[in-house]
Amino acid sequence: MKEINASEFESEVLESDMAVLDFYSTECPPCEALASKFEDLSKLYGNDIRFIKIFRQQNRDLAEKLGVKSSPTLLFFKNGIEVAGRLTGGIRRSDIIKNLDSMLPAEKVAGIKSGIRPGISEYDVIILGAGPGGLTAGLYLCQSKINTVLIDISLPGGHVSTTHEVSNYPGFIEPQAGYMLSHNMSEQTKLCGTVYKVAVDITKVDLEKREVVIDEYETVKAKKIVIATGTTPNLTGAPGEKELKGKGISYCATCDGKYMDKKDVVVIGGGNSAVEESEYLTRFAEKLTIVHQLDKLTANKKAQDKVLSNPKISVIYNSEPRFFKKDGDKIITEIENVKTKAKEKLISDGVFIFIGMKPNVSLFGDKLELDKWGYIRTDEDMRTNIPGIFAVGDVISKKYRQITTAVADGTIAAMAIAKEMD
Ligand SMILES: Cc1cc2nc3c(=O)[nH]c(=O)nc-3n(C[C@H](O)[C@H](O)[C@H](O)COP(=O)(O)OP(=O)(O)OC[C@H]3O[C@@H](n4cnc5c(N)ncnc54)[C@H](O)[C@@H]3O)c2cc1C
Repeated sequence: MKEINASEFESEVLESDMAVLDFYSTECPPCEALASKFEDLSKLYGNDIRFIKIFRQQNRDLAEKLGVKSSPTLLFFKNGIEVAGRLTGGIRRSDIIKNLDSMLPAEKVAGIKSGIRPGISEYDVIILGAGPGGLTAGLYLCQSKINTVLIDISLPGGHVSTTHEVSNYPGFIEPQAGYMLSHNMSEQTKLCGTVYKVAVDITKVDLEKREVVIDEYETVKAKKIVIATGTTPNLTGAPGEKELKGKGISYCATCDGKYMDKKDVVVIGGGNSAVEESEYLTRFAEKLTIVHQLDKLTANKKAQDKVLSNPKISVIYNSEPRFFKKDGDKIITEIENVKTKAKEKLISDGVFIFIGMKPNVSLFGDKLELDKWGYIRTDEDMRTNIPGIFAVGDVISKKYRQITTAVADGTIAAMAIAKEMD
């Protein structure tokens, strides 16, 4: 592995048979997350492909010339020509390998793969998921001098890192940008000494053996595991939804309802959360339209009666969104009546989608006790039914899912673990 500056780009990269170039920056958490993977892979592929690093801040002109806009960015070159796709952000080991393999003949790849020696590392506690619940558990465990590793399939922060503004986290008078709040939580836990393995692929979890396999080759073992993997909102799948998430489309009324003061709102869904959240949203919204795919709401009767008698709320039945589009400050939602096929465009200031959340539990097998919605059951110390396995945050069976409640769960689990390990 070699560090170069811009003047060496031609001789070291373009004139090499094959090279991978890492544009990195300082104070860049995803660059830190990449560094050990890059070094590790250089040992495997380094005889065939040159692994080169370049400090982006000091080589800005070259970065601009190559169109590198964020750190880290990995570029792959073969005979002086850029090949394979660029990788940026929370770069996974498996994505780098895919690109490296695409540059080499198949027999060479097979030879390299046969040289991979599985690694084993051991900790007191593994935390799966680095959202507010996992980060808080990590902080408390670390402060109790318990050797802890935080493993996340993405970069640290969880839902908060993509939340526009958080105005209900105590201790801050002004609303905080979600990414800053999660960055500060993550830095606090990291500075304490918790080990991070982030933007990794989790290929296997054995809760009973308390082992997690990451990136197919590294087995991480521990005495205890804290599951803090949160939830994933169900998406409608309509075009435009992903692009407008956080830019007019929201999945959280408590979080974004207050920005809808005297505004026109569309809610997609008709179950309990859609109906209850709609009722809540009318504290702010002037007018609210519920779009529901069935011919009647499926929420409980009491909640239904409330919204149906609310003069601000109207319901469009038998309809599903077909696309979402931004038009200036407004969001256009095209809906289609599933019976008549008639299409209609709704213009609003914000769209809230409540068609359910999915707890992220698919990796944990069938021994873990779940409630009927698939959330993990815990006792008051956050213990699950499997000895040594705790769960915290949005992934557990509970009534209210907020940053503060996830943080509280993480605190409780860590304190219970510290007590057990005394
Ligand atoms: C759009 C939106 C806005 C919100 N705004 C607010 C707000 O303003 N105020 C508020 O209090 N609450 C808000 N919430 C709710 C709040 O974000 C959550 O309650 C909180 O983030 C839960 O924390 P968590 O640690 O349990 O899970 P998450 O924040 O969901 O973090 C889970 C982490 O686990 C990781 N993960 C997932 N699967 C795996 C796996 N198999 N292995 C390892 N890691 C995995 C994920 O990558 C993620 O980093 C909002 C939620 C959403 C969706």
